[in-house]
Amino acid sequence: MLQQRIKKELEVIKSKGLYRQVRDLAFIDNCHARDRSGKEYLVLSSNNYLGLTDHPDIKKAAQEALAYGSGSTGSRLTTGGVFAASSLERELAEFKHTEDALIFNTGYMTNLGVIFGLARPGDIIFSDELNHASIIDGCRISQAQVVVYKHSDMTDLAQKLEAWRDHSGEKFIVSDGVFSMDGDIATLPELVRLKQQYGALLLIDDAHAVGVLGADGAGTASYYHLQGQVDLQVGTLSKSLASEGGYVAGPRLILDYLRNKSRPFIFSTALTPVDLAMAQAALRLLRHKGAELLRHLQANTALARELLSAAHLPVLPSATPIIPLLVGDATSSSRLAECLYERGIILSAIRPPTVAPGESRLRLTVTAGLSAAELTQAMETLIAVWQEQASLSGK
Ligand SMILES: *Cc1c(COP(=O)(O)O)cnc(C)c1O
Repeated sequence: MLQQRIKKELEVIKSKGLYRQVRDLAFIDNCHARDRSGKEYLVLSSNNYLGLTDHPDIKKAAQEALAYGSGSTGSRLTTGGVFAASSLERELAEFKHTEDALIFNTGYMTNLGVIFGLARPGDIIFSDELNHASIIDGCRISQAQVVVYKHSDMTDLAQKLEAWRDHSGEKFIVSDGVFSMDGDIATLPELVRLKQQYGALLLIDDAHAVGVLGADGAGTASYYHLQGQVDLQVGTLSKSLASEGGYVAGPRLILDYLRNKSRPFIFSTALTPVDLAMAQAALRLLRHKGAELLRHLQANTALARELLSAAHLPVLPSATPIIPLLVGDATSSSRLAECLYERGIILSAIRPPTVAPGESRLRLTVTAGLSAAELTQAMETLIAVWQEQASLSGK
């Protein structure tokens, strides 16, 4: 019965051009990888914004951390409470200008752990319609009432907050800082104003914002000079920070509560000493040598956008290294990604259910490790493939 059902579903997925497959790769450096046949690719779809994954300081930190063994052997509240975790939490809190920080095993688990840990039935969560899946899932399992507002539409959010003004439960406003599929930035000043006006708690997910936004790379609050105005800032250690894991930064009272109540924190084995040491080394690089890295990232972002716009490709506007090219239908998006793959460029075709039907796109991410020459060449290939496909489909 189940076998029949899932076979049928997979056939439907395939017929719509939505079938997904894992492709094995081995990275050669921070932006080049090789497949099993040995063919080399330029990777333009990673979250490795600062290009730190092959940095010698991080590799050295990993080797040194192996002195403490491979696994953490338990949850933080048992034997996994290693020095490295608490010291990284202190550095994250300093970096984010908050009282405290709390590490989870992934960014995904952080959103589950924070939202499920704090919101409960009777509360209301106001959530942007384009928020990351981990926020949506955290809202679901919390069983709080979820009110979805139109993407970054502050008039819609204000109306919804007004409609629920007299509700007795706690109110939460939850938003990505940089939206992962469109690359646009949340309108934080308005979110802060509304959370103050309606007495809501504001959670911003900075997974794509740390190492990208703000003069210090500290994320959305820093970009808008609103440090201290966001109640909870979620982040990941797996994107710009080149390791694995997630964290929330915020007031000590709330984080102490989560240490006592948050199930993903309590019931999962802590990150390994190596994961933690790599993230700490990356954070130190960002804090001490960040200006240079951020400059590279911004220059590469501007270069890619300029070249694509000059060739009249439909680049969605944003100021971040996430550059979406709107295609429309899922099959054409997959075909474009496939042609580029053949030519040695990896970027992703983003299709439903990740985006709405008819909004399939190529999503390219620029990183700091790319040289201007190589990026220019890759953009020329992308433009050529795009034009080829457009003329084939008679557009
Ligand atoms: C990637 C991402 C996450 C999940 O982080 P992981 O560490 O990869 O689990 C959460 N939120 C947003 C907005 C993300 O882009």
